[in-house]
Amino acid sequence: MPQIEFDLRVAGDEMPDAFLDATELELMFAGTRRATGDSLRRKFAAVTCGEHGGAPKFTISGVYDRATEQMDLQYHVDACCQAFLLRVMQILNQRA
Ligand SMILES: [Zn+2]
Repeated sequence: MPQIEFDLRVAGDEMPDAFLDATELELMFAGTRRATGDSLRRKFAAVTCGEHGGAPKFTISGVYDRATEQMDLQYHVDACCQAFLLRVMQILNQRA
C-alpha cells in the first residue's frame, strides 16, 4: 500500500465575512484527506516497484488561501528509483 501524508494549511488573515469559518475549513480539509487518500489507495493498492518491491510515498500539500478562497493541492512523490517514479507519475496522471 502507498504511504500518504498530508500537509494542509490556511494562508492569509481570517476575513470578517469569510466564506468558510474555521470549523468548515477543518471539514473541508478532512474531506480532502479522505477523498484524495481513497483515490490514491485505490489506484496504488497493488502498485510496487518490479525491481525493488517498494511502494510509492505521497506527500500532498495544500494551502487554502483566505483571500482568494481557493486551495491548490500539490503532489510530491517519493519512489525507490527513477523507473518506478515514472510509472507512478503515469498512473497518477490517469483519470480516476
Ligand atoms: Zn525501484
